[in-house]
Amino acid sequence: MALLPAGDDPRTPDTSAGKTVTLTGWGRIAPTTATLAEPADARAAAAYLAPGQTPGPVIPRGLGRAYNNAAQSAGGTVLSTARLARILSLDPGTGIVTAEAGVSLEDLMVAGLPHGWFVPVSPGTRQVTVGGAIAADVHGKNHHVAGSFGGHVLSFDLVLPSGQSRTCLPDRDPDLFWATTGGMGLTGLITRATIQLKRVETARVKVDTVRTADIDETMAVLAEHDEKYGYTVAWSDSTARGGAIGRSVITSGDFAGPGDLREPDQDRPFAFDPRARLGVPDIFPPGLLNRYSITLANEAWYRKAPRAREGEIQTIGQFFHPLDGIRNWNRVYGPKGFRQYQYVMPFSAQDAVRKSFEMVSAAHAPSFVTVLKRFGAGNAGLLSFPMPGWTLALDFPGGTPGLARLCDALDRLVVDNGGRVYLAKDSRVSPGMLEQMYPRLAEFRKLRGELDPGAVFASDLSRRLGM
Ligand SMILES: Cc1cc2nc3c(=O)[nH]c(=O)nc-3n(C[C@H](O)[C@H](O)[C@H](O)COP(=O)(O)OP(=O)(O)OC[C@H]3O[C@@H](n4cnc5c(N)ncnc54)[C@H](O)[C@@H]3O)c2cc1C
Repeated sequence: MALLPAGDDPRTPDTSAGKTVTLTGWGRIAPTTATLAEPADARAAAAYLAPGQTPGPVIPRGLGRAYNNAAQSAGGTVLSTARLARILSLDPGTGIVTAEAGVSLEDLMVAGLPHGWFVPVSPGTRQVTVGGAIAADVHGKNHHVAGSFGGHVLSFDLVLPSGQSRTCLPDRDPDLFWATTGGMGLTGLITRATIQLKRVETARVKVDTVRTADIDETMAVLAEHDEKYGYTVAWSDSTARGGAIGRSVITSGDFAGPGDLREPDQDRPFAFDPRARLGVPDIFPPGLLNRYSITLANEAWYRKAPRAREGEIQTIGQFFHPLDGIRNWNRVYGPKGFRQYQYVMPFSAQDAVRKSFEMVSAAHAPSFVTVLKRFGAGNAGLLSFPMPGWTLALDFPGGTPGLARLCDALDRLVVDNGGRVYLAKDSRVSPGMLEQMYPRLAEFRKLRGELDPGAVFASDLSRRLGM
């Protein structure tokens, strides 16, 4: 990352041109090979889109943190934003930042925090680019008050499938803006965006923790905490049985004030250390994470948490991105990788949420990281995932017996209750199910048809789902 005025461009020509790469998403399950292109500006990106320049279809890629193959294009071209990595301006008075699409949320934190500005929405990892955050319209622990990422984007520049560039604002070009926000890279390449950051008084979070005994208590506490805190989430023990199903550790908090910090930290209220602490060795024993080890880990995690604790001061890394503390933690799942499943169902579907926990428990499907949270209002994104209701994210080792059957049954439950699954994590939903989950999919398809009649843009995900 560099904070440079636009126009002062020290970059060298794209040496990646024509290189072949084999890529997966973060879950490491569906590798495919494509040609890599790393344009350093909109003009270079447009050149790649000219007929015959690169194998098609084309799909943008940020840091590859989507869990499956949203940023892959088998036999086509992946337009990486690795060289679109400059923060072009940051106004310390207003917190308005303009950054190229390959700038990561961590970069924005490093640049913004010294001036008291934090990202408006942070997913569970900060190793996500601005382009990826808009394309998946990512959500965080503050969705109930702040909505998703797209709501904080003032404008972005998009290289269309035709090669033309367009600046999109939500009020001036709403159709394209809201098709692209949550549109999984299928409307073009975002090259830069202007975002309103969030004012904070320190780089620490004041956290309250509550341990709940079962799913009913978990849901009741989450509802109560939505009223009291800006950030809240439940980590649930997916392996619990019987009356303990849905037992959870709920952490809720808000950014601390300067007076909340301990003595030594009061002199450096915005200190933020982004470095990852540990790495997972390349050769990790396969099968280390299995039903038994995950059950033990869940039990230990739950028992270790205090029944109730108030006012603990945590770093941004501890509260928002605990998994970023271990580089490449996805390797721990071994060569079969892992699959994420995340749904949202309306608040009225409380019984179905309980049922989903029972189904996971009965299937003996071990999820290592299981997160339950309540979303607030959705936005105008045609394919944006969040809607008001309960969202549950699970991740399962790739080789879990009976996983496909369980996920199919969960899909049915979700659709029957008016919910949907998250495309940034999906690896297996069927096209028919997707149509039922996303009522505005037809509008999206129509807009894409007009924007990209030659189907220049497509991903492995979009081809499987006929998006
Ligand atoms: C540990 C972990 C925790 C996570 N937690 C959350 C969470 O709490 N909430 C949440 O919402 N998500 C979460 N995610 C998912 C992640 O935030 C999204 O998948 C995000 O899109 C990844 O960004 P990326 O830069 O890695 O994009 P990639 O994974 O490279 O691409 C994702 C999608 O964005 C498109 N895209 C990327 N760059 C551009 C661009 N410049 N122009 C147009 N399209 C583009 C791609 O084509 C693709 O469709 C998590 C992922 C991980 C690994």
